[in-house]
Amino acid sequence: MALDGTSNLSRLLDQEDVPPVFEQNTAGRSPFLFTCDHYGRLIPQKLGDLGLPVDELIRHIAWDIGIAGVAETLSNHLDARLIAQRYSRLVIDCNRPLTAAGSIPRLSEATMIPGNEALSREAAEIRRREIFDPYHQRIREVIDQRLAEGRPTVLVALHSFTPVYAGVARPWHIGTLYHHDTTLPPLLLKALRAEADLVVGDNEPYAVSDETDYTIPQHGEARGLISTGIEIRQDLIGDGVGQQQWAERLARILGEIEVVLRREGKI
Ligand SMILES: [Zn+2]
Repeated sequence: MALDGTSNLSRLLDQEDVPPVFEQNTAGRSPFLFTCDHYGRLIPQKLGDLGLPVDELIRHIAWDIGIAGVAETLSNHLDARLIAQRYSRLVIDCNRPLTAAGSIPRLSEATMIPGNEALSREAAEIRRREIFDPYHQRIREVIDQRLAEGRPTVLVALHSFTPVYAGVARPWHIGTLYHHDTTLPPLLLKALRAEADLVVGDNEPYAVSDETDYTIPQHGEARGLISTGIEIRQDLIGDGVGQQQWAERLARILGEIEVVLRREGKI
């Protein structure tokens, strides 16, 4: 098994690999459009295990733990479309610009990724072509279609974050992450802070920038959409019960925000 992908460069994904894009509620009528860049932790057969033991491949470095269940339930509650990406961020990170060092990480937190060492330009290109591109092309097409139909579209990128990073504990239960949008993040922050039991991060533990992020800058801000990212702490959504509770809470909050946006003529 060639870890560096130098064999058979014509294709990365073969018949045993599922497509990178997962969609749910494609006919959903909500103005909310959910994306989930770090939904899955699959690795294409040809890349083996990237040279990592299985306990590394199920950690937060490989995917956003718990967010898949939240995203699916939330999109069902709101009748909103979800577009998600099934392959691990260790193969290619779908929320990093292709020029960013973390696009195909050689190091994640304190873990070296052997399968990403000395990667040829061609091997990197094929990951982009077969995983990154189809995912972002799908998001682009869906937004194009909605705009052409005059449908209101509010982009929400769903993520989760590890409770401890590089030995430092994070106090927040949930955070918003945004850059230029001044409509949705303040409404969301206000609503989350009204929940008495929550510690809410304002661009914590992560903020959005053009250098480190792709989905919100490219599909939200560059297209003038109302948008934000949401990050939930992973220990809160580690099982189905937590995922259900957080999906229900966010469905309630986003439903209330939709009413405000409509009342103010923003959508
Ligand atoms: Zn993420």
